[in-house]
Amino acid sequence: MFFRTDHLQQLLNTLSSKGYCCIGPQIRDGAIIYDEIHSTDQLPQGFSDQQVPGSYSLSQNSSLKFFDWANGPQAIKPHLFAAREKIWQSAQDADGKITFNTTEPEPRLIAIIGARACDIAAMKIQDQHFLEQEFVDPYYKIHRENLLLVAVNCSHPADTCFCYSTGDGPFVEDGADLVLTELDQGFLIDAHTEPGNKILEALTLENDTAEHLEQAASIKTNACKQKRSLPEFDIKKRLLSELKNGIWHDIATKCLSCGNCTSVCPTCFCHSEADVPELDGKSSTHYRQWDSCFSQGHSYIHGITIRSETSQRYRQWLTHKFASWHEQYGRSGCVGCGRCITWCPVGIDVTESLKNFEERRRG
Ligand code: SF4
Ligand code: SF4
Repeated sequence: MFFRTDHLQQLLNTLSSKGYCCIGPQIRDGAIIYDEIHSTDQLPQGFSDQQVPGSYSLSQNSSLKFFDWANGPQAIKPHLFAAREKIWQSAQDADGKITFNTTEPEPRLIAIIGARACDIAAMKIQDQHFLEQEFVDPYYKIHRENLLLVAVNCSHPADTCFCYSTGDGPFVEDGADLVLTELDQGFLIDAHTEPGNKILEALTLENDTAEHLEQAASIKTNACKQKRSLPEFDIKKRLLSELKNGIWHDIATKCLSCGNCTSVCPTCFCHSEADVPELDGKSSTHYRQWDSCFSQGHSYIHGITIRSETSQRYRQWLTHKFASWHEQYGRSGCVGCGRCITWCPVGIDVTESLKNFEERRRG
């Protein structure tokens, strides 16, 4: 089905009338981020992005399109696995008795508009981690059960994207409730779930035409032409057989161990726990917060930091993401979003790091 660009506000209104808080793309601090949205005026209409290793910028053009850009630093992950989440609180009464109270988040219906194929693939990996193990994470579960996804197929991958080579994009196959493809005069729209169908029924739609489908096919063909790709050798096997390769040290001479790559990565799920005591000394709050395998504390065990060198931390990140992840989740932990390349302050490119192993072998 097709709906006209000037009906996009109707989609937001419909979602709101069904109780959803709409989260959508908007420009903040020079980047496209996802936050609460009420009007299509907040969308980055007519903006495009320029992304290369270590650099991100936006520019305005004469296009009337709302979603003609590749992903910014985040999309779905912070709304399901919060950067900082209150887990429990403890308090001591006048008799010295300490009580612990868990603090589960209030269920809130959320509709994320504009999510891309790579992010939905990443969410499916996080679903495996948080929901499909022996212990289900109740915090992630509450957010996930109340989520509706309105995905948008990618039209202009960034220079740093490589989702086509990981098989995770640029078009959405499943995992979203509604999928949009933005054309010149409006959107192709498909519902993939029952909640998606209910939203669709409330919109003013027209039948799609052969011309609409041709435009969509051409957008897809262009979006599949990505500059970067993963190397074709058996990455898992190669990485695990190269644990002592000098490449790790070479990368470490550049890497700042800042953890930016892990913060922007939509599949990374490592966290640490922190207690924040009140000044009266009688109560405290326990938080879960994102951590990074690049931090000192992440490998601290019994008085020793196991991965004290940057080379060891980068090796841990790459070998987990592209090798041992297969044993845990049946696939690699990379969906090709390219964020770790764009947002690395020194422009370390994960696809180049992997290709270096082959080039070194050839001499
Ligand atoms: S490793 Fe890099 S390219 Fe792959 S999913 Fe994470 S941030 Fe995206
Ligand atoms: S690879 Fe880049 S983003 Fe990641 S820790 Fe090193 S310097 Fe930071």
